[in-house]
Amino acid sequence: MSKNLFSSQFKQACYWKESMEWPLKVAPKDLPATADVVVIGSGFTGLSAAHKLAKSGAQVVVLDQQEIGGGASSRNGGIVHPTLGVSAQVLIDRYGVERAKALYPIVIKSMEYLTNLVKAENIDCHFNYGGAFEAAVRPKHIAGYEIKAKLLKEVFNHHSHVIHPNERSDHIGSETYHGGWHDPLGATLHPARLVSGLGEAAQRAEAELHPFTPALGVETDGSTRLVRTPRGDIRADAVVLASNGYTGNMFPDLRKRLIPLNIVALATEPLPSDLADKLFPKPYCYWDSSRLFFYYQRTKDDRIVFGGVNALPVGGTIRKAKNSFRRFRRIFPELNDYQIDYAWDGNVAITFDRIPHLGQSEGLFYALGFNGDGVLLGTYLGSKIAEMVIGKETSSPLAEIKFPSIKGSRWLPKLMPFARMFFGVLDTLGI
Ligand SMILES: Cc1cc2nc3c(=O)[nH]c(=O)nc-3n(C[C@H](O)[C@H](O)[C@H](O)COP(=O)(O)OP(=O)(O)OC[C@H]3O[C@@H](n4cnc5c(N)ncnc54)[C@H](O)[C@@H]3O)c2cc1C
Repeated sequence: MSKNLFSSQFKQACYWKESMEWPLKVAPKDLPATADVVVIGSGFTGLSAAHKLAKSGAQVVVLDQQEIGGGASSRNGGIVHPTLGVSAQVLIDRYGVERAKALYPIVIKSMEYLTNLVKAENIDCHFNYGGAFEAAVRPKHIAGYEIKAKLLKEVFNHHSHVIHPNERSDHIGSETYHGGWHDPLGATLHPARLVSGLGEAAQRAEAELHPFTPALGVETDGSTRLVRTPRGDIRADAVVLASNGYTGNMFPDLRKRLIPLNIVALATEPLPSDLADKLFPKPYCYWDSSRLFFYYQRTKDDRIVFGGVNALPVGGTIRKAKNSFRRFRRIFPELNDYQIDYAWDGNVAITFDRIPHLGQSEGLFYALGFNGDGVLLGTYLGSKIAEMVIGKETSSPLAEIKFPSIKGSRWLPKLMPFARMFFGVLDTLGI
């Protein structure tokens, strides 16, 4: 067993960005004084919105306070699984069967949208439509999967499969798991390549990208909006806010509806391919059923990229990475002989009802709150909010749901670490 968790080449940096030439080129350019639409944020949501808007003929300017895609979009796990963030049962209990039936197609359409977009725009992002697998950390979770698979089939006509303990090794090579749930809808991808490809697609449609240009505020001036930036102001007919876990206090009405959460991801050194085949025999995107779950994928070069919500309430990326890798090695003891090459972090945005929201507020269009599932939903809802701006869509079943905030929401991020610790204890006790 290698006691040292980090390899001699270890870098505190995002593996995805380190593993590619960044094809997206952005030539420095003055900000225009006017635009049809200003998009704030250049992750999947902002770039997808910009692409759709520019294709419809709008003059679009994308602003980001960091480099293009520098938020969560280039630094996530690359897990692509269609979900609104809560289970189908919760959708039905909360909104009733009819409304749940109107909401559920969003997840199916989001998968179709991403698949078609990657193909149509020729985005080389290692998109592998190989299905999804949730690994059961407790035997009792299998009974839950039976109920879930039945419900998905009967109410939403979505076919998925329960994997029993005796079939487990065909799907995942860890004896700590007790089977699982397999959904044919699921994929893995290289997120930084997707961001870069979306940026290029938006540029081909003639959207302008302006990195390192923060929007300092948006003022309403008659029927137009004035977007203030340190490089000058832009007058626009509409503004799209796509800032998710990086939404600042200059948008107070939306900020109070989001809890930013910083999470860590890691990449192992490349594994021998026979070991990678044994541990991850299928091209699935994987996660497990614990409260502080792990998610993971096998990359093209046979590394495992994984991460999850960490139970540690304190400490930076390195400390959290150590804690995560120790826990991950307990699931896959074969990794005791292998080390971590990269660890990095990023922000997700949690909503109080755990589903994403889109609509209009404070004169802004927004698509926010992906609860750690924004690869697919960010890309899809970015295009949907663009359609609302253009007037092609007047609403969406999601826009009809109130975007909740609660009193004291400014303090909640401070309490989150203790909630995480509590969930960690419950997971350890198997409750
Ligand atoms: C470590 C990690 C792992 C994850 N794993 C997965 C996964 O496997 N699968 C999955 O589906 N999701 C995953 N997620 C979540 C997913 O990455 C996000 O939901 C998604 O990227 C959100 O995209 P976005 O475009 O809405 O926001 P982001 O990509 O975060 O972009 C928001 C952008 O807004 C910019 N911004 C904010 N305020 C301003 C301002 N005032 N002016 C200018 N720019 C501004 C920021 O700089 C940022 O670039 C993960 C996230 C993290 C951090």
